[in-house]
Amino acid sequence: MINGAECEPYLTADHRLMVERSDGILDGAALFARAIGVSRVIVAIETNKPDAIEAMRRAASPHEGFSVEALDVIYPQGAEKQLIFALSGRRVPAGGLPMDVGVLVQNVGTCLAAHEAVRRNIPLIRRVVTVTGSGVRRPKNVLARIGTTFEDLVAFCGGLEEDTAKCISGGPMMGVAQYSLGAPVTKGTSGLVLLRRGEAGQFAGDPCIRCARCVEACPMRLNPSALSIFAERMRFEDAAAFNVMDCIECGCCAYVCPSRRPMVHHFRRAKAEIRKMQKKAG
Ligand code: SF4
Ligand code: SF4
Repeated sequence: MINGAECEPYLTADHRLMVERSDGILDGAALFARAIGVSRVIVAIETNKPDAIEAMRRAASPHEGFSVEALDVIYPQGAEKQLIFALSGRRVPAGGLPMDVGVLVQNVGTCLAAHEAVRRNIPLIRRVVTVTGSGVRRPKNVLARIGTTFEDLVAFCGGLEEDTAKCISGGPMMGVAQYSLGAPVTKGTSGLVLLRRGEAGQFAGDPCIRCARCVEACPMRLNPSALSIFAERMRFEDAAAFNVMDCIECGCCAYVCPSRRPMVHHFRRAKAEIRKMQKKAG
């Protein structure tokens, strides 16, 4: 499966890639298919990108066994396990991997990188980054070299508005707020979202009131309320027993939480601590 869903708000880097580099992406997908010996390739794109669907369908037509599926626009449709379920009805088991249900998922950017490496001998030294949000003067998608600082990216896009208050590396749901613009673009930097004062709230997070809104919102059917309390109290074994490792860090629970609890922060910390414990135990 080739993931072109790009479901996070604000980000459009994969969308532009699919419109402008569809042939290269599908050549990369064909290389992956050949390497793992599969004959069926499904490209998944959300219906809010009709130009990308059209470009990819045109580019897919010479490839036998390739199809392009249009998916409903639902966050987090682009998450690996959700994508597999939407396209095949198969459920990746808790703690499992896509290969457990006979699937390999690659992002469109990874396919293009494979094409560039194999056909053109160009290693992954650059990627498309969406620089956007009301805090930047001329938002755009930029083909940036790995290692370019966020400061240089922002300067290339006309600089910051005076009241820019927050810089997020990645999308607004799954991204990570930055302390400074000195950080570099990495292979995983999909975007830079710059928000002005008034849009960027800062919350300390209140105690859980057990309203269960997060439980209803979680696409992985976890209990985010319990997990966040375990993480807060450093009960990482309990968090592991409640499957925190299956959390895809989509941020849906944090988005609906009336107590504005920093859920994803708690889960990232719990996962890091559990990995540390597992490493120690050998
Ligand atoms: S971030 Fe929250 S909603 Fe998303 S998978 Fe993890 S626990 Fe569930
Ligand atoms: S949404 Fe927030 S307050 Fe409600 S149960 Fe979940 S963590 Fe607790």
